Amino acid sequence: MKTKERYVFLECTVCKERNYTTHKRLKAAYKLEKKKHCRRCRTHTSHREKKL
Ligand SMILES: [Zn+2]
Repeated sequence: MKTKERYVFLECTVCKERNYTTHKRLKAAYKLEKKKHCRRCRTHTSHREKKL
């Protein structure tokens, strides 16, 4: 089965460090935003998607 997915970075909104990669469906309209642990900030911050 073919599903069109693309990979995106999850970037810390505080320090702009790209801590995670994930993937999502190509036509998904929403923007990913997740609370994740940031190594540089040493705390949980919002991470927003960025294209590879
Ligand atoms: Zn950070």
